[in-house]
Amino acid sequence: MTSLSDPSFTLHGVGVSSGIAIGHAHLISHALLEVVHYQLPAHLIDDEIKRFSDAIATVKSDLELINDSLRKNAPAELGAFIGTHLMMLNDKSLSESPKSIIKNELCNAEWAIKLQMDEIVEQFEQIEDTYLRERKQDVIQVVERVIKVLLGHPSLSSEQQTSALQQERKLILVAHDISPADAIQFKQHEFAAFITDVGGVTSHTAILARSLNIPSIVALQKARDLIHDGELIIVDGKQGVVIVNPDKSILTEYKLRQNQWELEQQKLQRIKSTKAVTLDGTNIDLFANIEVPEDVVSAKAAGATGIGLYRTEFLFMNRREMPDEEEQFIAYKKVAEAMNGAPVVIRTLDLGADKQMNPDTVIECANPALGLRAIRYCLAEPQIFHTQLRALLRASNFGSIKILIPMLSTLAELRQTKLSLERAKASLRKQNIKFDENIALGGMIEIPAAAINAEAFASELDFLSIGTNDLIQYTLAIDRTDDAVAHLYNPLHPSVLKLIAMTIKAGEKLGKSVSVCGEMAGEAKLTKLLIGMGLRQLSMHPSHILSVKQQILHSQMSKLNKGAKKVLALTDIEKIEPAVAKFYSASNLRLKPRH
Ligand code: PEP
Ligand code: MG
Repeated sequence: MTSLSDPSFTLHGVGVSSGIAIGHAHLISHALLEVVHYQLPAHLIDDEIKRFSDAIATVKSDLELINDSLRKNAPAELGAFIGTHLMMLNDKSLSESPKSIIKNELCNAEWAIKLQMDEIVEQFEQIEDTYLRERKQDVIQVVERVIKVLLGHPSLSSEQQTSALQQERKLILVAHDISPADAIQFKQHEFAAFITDVGGVTSHTAILARSLNIPSIVALQKARDLIHDGELIIVDGKQGVVIVNPDKSILTEYKLRQNQWELEQQKLQRIKSTKAVTLDGTNIDLFANIEVPEDVVSAKAAGATGIGLYRTEFLFMNRREMPDEEEQFIAYKKVAEAMNGAPVVIRTLDLGADKQMNPDTVIECANPALGLRAIRYCLAEPQIFHTQLRALLRASNFGSIKILIPMLSTLAELRQTKLSLERAKASLRKQNIKFDENIALGGMIEIPAAAINAEAFASELDFLSIGTNDLIQYTLAIDRTDDAVAHLYNPLHPSVLKLIAMTIKAGEKLGKSVSVCGEMAGEAKLTKLLIGMGLRQLSMHPSHILSVKQQILHSQMSKLNKGAKKVLALTDIEKIEPAVAKFYSASNLRLKPRH
């Protein structure tokens, strides 16, 4: 734990979600990665065994203390979870066997417990029962705790841990990296902020962090090494700045800024039920992107008038078996019903690249972003695709569902997809199961090849949705998850803007709707440009809807069209950026809502 007299320092990264958080660091441990092997002389073995026993005793008493105080008002699952860890720690295989390893192999305690853990984990992996097999994660977590103590990592005292667990709203997660599969689990918690050493602005981890609606910063390089558990930190998500152990004056200043930010957010609530219409009467659809059915609540609370992108792959994560048709049907139906007839665009499975089911079932390819991902994977696994299409079709009977295909690059893929859809429809007809016979089929335009050939895609699809996250990645050859090239990732690159413009034009020509569902859609600074370019539908994380709507309420179409035309004529980012900034007017929160 730190006091205000601990040395203060600042770290700079890339802010991915705005807001200010002040709280205590909670390190997501990777202690296991730090374990090294070394030999000890025979006369030091008894001391090493004692060091091991002491570490076990420390972790045990920490867990017992947490367990005792939790009983008062913590959720039951949390108690059960700590109980399981205690039970494992009390088991001889973890508390005694490593001592024999230290003795026989004359090795250090960290190495001994890691060897023992590997053996136990291997045994767990042989278990048929999925639930029991998953318990290997608990073994790993307990061993992590012991290793942390052995390595002398400063950690919260038991009391601090207890109160921290109960007040997770004040915890700031500090990690080297987090996979999207890990990040999706944070949705069940209420942390104050989220910071990582690596990651790009539009990596799926960043997208999830943004959807948690808490300040987040990626690409901090050494945050996890430099910050200790329990240290007081300030996270300024807008500026991408982390201040560790702030002094009193800085703390006061940031508390003021935090209040101001919260006030601004509250003011934005005033336009929640206002229609998104420009000053000269052009209607814009503001839809929400969701990852799990429960996100519909925040989508509706933010005034979304539809779901523009439901990323179904998150239903497939953190598990070994694929969800069956019934489980998928229930999830899709839940969203369709909750939206009460409003459009719900559900994207078929976009697994691959940085989105994997779990670390053990990674789709292996030399260059994952260019490999078997999304529709390519689905077409290669027809049974998985068939199950999802049947579930989607069945759910279409309960709302206004549209199907969206990710990563299309050729018309052949689209035609094969249509055949798969027809097969799924035929199988349902055979069983007399109802579905929407005219369900709309749309395609993501997120590969330059698709944007260049957008007219051909538009002629065979009902609607197009531009995935700017991948479109930028593939156009500029910049890995969206790699912080080393994050500075080159620019949505305002003239080639990106041209591809977007080509797609909009193709939609207009063929009378097909075109939306943007990549992160660009939620950037209030770009709203006027996108509307000026002709877009009438934007889909974004619910937390961005109000700030984007505020821009629309201030917009005059005639001016935007002219401005967008000028921007599109430019070929140099250095000229494009100031031109776009001109569009973006400072927020006028005193604006009276129009109904
Ligand atoms: C995109 O690429 O812009 C998109 C919306 O899809 P995802 O971020 O899930 O790849
Ligand atoms: Mg994409």
